[in-house]
Amino acid sequence: MFVRFSTSFLLSVVVYSVYCLDTTELSEPPGEHDSQTSCKIKDEMKGGIKQLELEEAQEKIRLLEDRLEELASRIPSHQAYPQIKFRTFKDRKRILITGGAGFVGSHLVDKLMLDGHEVIVVDNYFTGRRRNVEQWLGHENFELLHHDIVAPLYLEVDEIYHLASPASPPHYMYNPVKTIKTNTVGTVNMLGLAKRVKARILIGSTSEVYGDPEVHPQPESYWGHVNPIGPRACYDEGKRVAETLAYAYEKQSNVSVRVARIFNTYGPRMHTNDGRVVSNFIIQALQGDPLTIYGNGEQTRSFQYVSDLVNGLVALMEGDYSQPINIGNPDERSILTFANSIKEMVGGDSSIEHLPPVEDDPQRRRPLIDLAKKVLNWEPTIPLEKGLEKTVEYFRRELGRKKHSERNLGDIEFNP
Ligand code: NAD
Ligand code: UDP
Ligand code: UDP
Repeated sequence: MFVRFSTSFLLSVVVYSVYCLDTTELSEPPGEHDSQTSCKIKDEMKGGIKQLELEEAQEKIRLLEDRLEELASRIPSHQAYPQIKFRTFKDRKRILITGGAGFVGSHLVDKLMLDGHEVIVVDNYFTGRRRNVEQWLGHENFELLHHDIVAPLYLEVDEIYHLASPASPPHYMYNPVKTIKTNTVGTVNMLGLAKRVKARILIGSTSEVYGDPEVHPQPESYWGHVNPIGPRACYDEGKRVAETLAYAYEKQSNVSVRVARIFNTYGPRMHTNDGRVVSNFIIQALQGDPLTIYGNGEQTRSFQYVSDLVNGLVALMEGDYSQPINIGNPDERSILTFANSIKEMVGGDSSIEHLPPVEDDPQRRRPLIDLAKKVLNWEPTIPLEKGLEKTVEYFRRELGRKKHSERNLGDIEFNP
């Protein structure tokens, strides 16, 4: 095998040769003492060279091991999949998750895969990533399709969780027309699919349908306060139309629909630069940057941990209740209080910086969840501090990540 020598090694060889030349050719014939000294020095030089060769070889082995690890991690069959429940064809469902490579969708994938179902994810990777579902790539129950739901899609499925849509304000405002198309045309396509194959469909709606609410906390019966032409309208009105479409398909074509009004959700796998308050504050605190508060920070939000949401979505899909339902955590905090909690949890010496308020920012948000408690027997169980600890840990790992082979496998929230 061809071996490349380092500069230091070559240098040693040159020094040794010069030494030999010096001692054998140019000097007087050695006496007994001189000859002993010269042998000793020669041995030391040889030993030095051997040591360098060893270090060279060790370095090469280390590089090869890294490369091997990297390559092995890319072979799907190499990885051990999480243990899943076995179901026969009779009680195994084929479930489509649109937006399944995103933050919420990927946790739902975990739950349904662990429960033994077949899961098909459809995603255009606008804000989603293969990395979020890499733990299932190659598994016989899992399929990942790169597809934009604004185009029709023909599949055979039993259930559809329709979550495809940018969700953070900077993402949905980035291309407002596309946001509207995804939530209207894309939703028509998914409802058309549900109608054709007689699948039940759950629409991932949002607390944004209440806009900047005049009723607090928000019950499902509240019709909302949305500016139809403001910067958030592409999302808010898009979701309102998605709900309207769901009930039009239910009425006109007997499609079985479920509508979840999801409130602010956080957890591992949130996009590192989605601009939402949870990811922004945690990343700013981890990097020692100022925490940016838009406005005076008196506006409120109520944050739910992602596993609570996913449990709520599955309970809704499986239950009989078909009207819109709030899925959120009523633990309400001001954004200023929230910033201080993150600072305290992460440590470091980040300051707080107030930036101008954003247009049409809802001032108060808290879900009433009496309905979910009653009809789904569901309520959130993860306290904010506990959920934030896991989320901080996740972002710490993400920021420290240096290699592709550092996988996302450690954050599955559910047990099989
Ligand atoms: P996310 O951005 O992480 O995930 C959305 C996924 O949809 C991404 O993978 C994205 O690539 C995909 N997508 C977007 N447009 C698409 C298209 N046209 N075709 C195919 N795929 C497309 O967001 P998330 O937080 O996981 O949100 C998931 C759903 O939950 C969204 O519908 C969102 O409106 C809703 N929701 C989320 C929250 C929250 O706090 N996370 C709150 C309310 C509602
Ligand atoms: N559609 C789809 N997959 C299907 C069935 C329908 O993507 O399996 C799309 C199709 O593009 C259609 C839309 O869903 O335009 C609405 O379907 P629907 O049956 O309501 O309407 P129609 O086909 O009559 O326009
Ligand atoms: N916010 C903030 N600083 C940030 C990001 C957000 O003060 O860096 C505020 C934002 O103005 C809003 C709240 O935090 O009042 C929640 O914002 P987010 O974008 O997370 O979600 P929203 O609930 O507005 O969709």
